[in-house]
Amino acid sequence: MHEYFTIEQLRKYSFEKIKRIQDLRFKATCRYMLPYVPFYAELFKKYGIDPFNMTKIEDWHDKGLPLIKKATYMKKPEDFIVEPDIKTILANHIAYLDNQDEYGAAAHVLLSLHKKEILQKYYAPKMLIFSGGTETGNPVPVMLTAEQKFDTLMGVLKIVGELILPKFDAEQKIGMNVFPYAPHLGWHAVHHALDLNADLNLCTAAGGAMPTERLIALAGKTKPNIICGMSDYLRNRFLPMAIEKKITLPEKVLFVNSAQKMHEPERDKIAELARKVGVKEATVLDFYGASELKEALMPECCPGSGFHHIAPLSTIVRTVSVSHATEELIDEWNFSENGYAASWNIDGAGTLLAGYFVGDKYERVVNEKCPNCQLNAMRIYGINRIREVEAQLKLTGMVEEKVKGTRVNLAAIREKALSLPEVKEAQVVLKKNKVELYFVSDKKIKEKLEKLFAGAEIKPKIIQSTLAKLGNKKLEGIKT
Ligand SMILES: [Zn+2]
Repeated sequence: MHEYFTIEQLRKYSFEKIKRIQDLRFKATCRYMLPYVPFYAELFKKYGIDPFNMTKIEDWHDKGLPLIKKATYMKKPEDFIVEPDIKTILANHIAYLDNQDEYGAAAHVLLSLHKKEILQKYYAPKMLIFSGGTETGNPVPVMLTAEQKFDTLMGVLKIVGELILPKFDAEQKIGMNVFPYAPHLGWHAVHHALDLNADLNLCTAAGGAMPTERLIALAGKTKPNIICGMSDYLRNRFLPMAIEKKITLPEKVLFVNSAQKMHEPERDKIAELARKVGVKEATVLDFYGASELKEALMPECCPGSGFHHIAPLSTIVRTVSVSHATEELIDEWNFSENGYAASWNIDGAGTLLAGYFVGDKYERVVNEKCPNCQLNAMRIYGINRIREVEAQLKLTGMVEEKVKGTRVNLAAIREKALSLPEVKEAQVVLKKNKVELYFVSDKKIKEKLEKLFAGAEIKPKIIQSTLAKLGNKKLEGIKT
């Protein structure tokens, strides 16, 4: 059973062939998975959709189905998990495989003495992953099955290694994970990627798990040459402290950023700081992923190559334009060459999001063989995670913004500030890449507020103000 393409297949298969196989999985997913997802069973009924008429991704638009907003998903994530009918699960699963021309896999299940175990692995949710929301406490949760966690995700992470590491010719590859430890996709993906691809995985974590001082002391002794973490942390904490503590790192180091947008100057900054601790050749790569895209992690193959969609059998990712939205759904939309990302999970069971409006905007999507790695993988450039709050409100139904690639819920910042009894009024202002928090109080509580946001990835700049200055009765809680 093909749950992912190997790197050889990604080189060999044409874009047409990949799309054909994606559509086969889409068709099987519509027939044998989505009807067992409470939200979609209801949606299909409401829109008069016979799942057997859905044969290709374009049908989602042509048959008048809407896109689902994040706010709608977040209201009841449990309604998006496949709940197979135990009475028909075996017959359904065989049909699901047959519909994808996976006759060998179907025969294997039928002849197996361990049918129950196979089905359990394929259908029972095993692991909860999150992405985003480190700031807001409102991350997006998604359930992976054992099949997806142990087989698909690991398969995809192995491809990541095969894609990136051949160009990185260090004799011994020692990996250090400096993502904050949490049930967050970033830490887990990096941890397993290093387990699979490095000779030695130091199994570290940043955030509250290990203080930066200790990570630096360890790095000074063990000389890691694959260091994975968020660009902000690498630039503002990890490397400055490495310089301060006068440790040295190997001559060649591969830095990998993920979970937040890395701008080109930040890439240079990491290399520049690394030079000060003895790194003559720093390669800084970027990664894109989101829990809603599940195993579809998208690496660069070399700096600036665009993000490679190397797991097209996990999630179909397309861009769309939007012309009308209600509070819950986007009811007038169309596929477009670039624009807002929409996704359809076709990776089996667990959480299934189909016709899901991701919200990130892709400047350019290229469906051509990559000149660097020769992979026939869709490549995405210019992922804009900073969007107009208003547009986002209209589209996703949440006042949420990504600042420096981190999803920030502006409304939650205001709420948190207002939770202090001394705060009379608060206003959150989004300025380009900064968040400012104005507060009104009779007491001196600036420090207290700063402490309140000390653990946040994006700390708002805290400024005392007066009600008059904030516009008194016409006060806007959130300004952009
Ligand atoms: Zn490439």
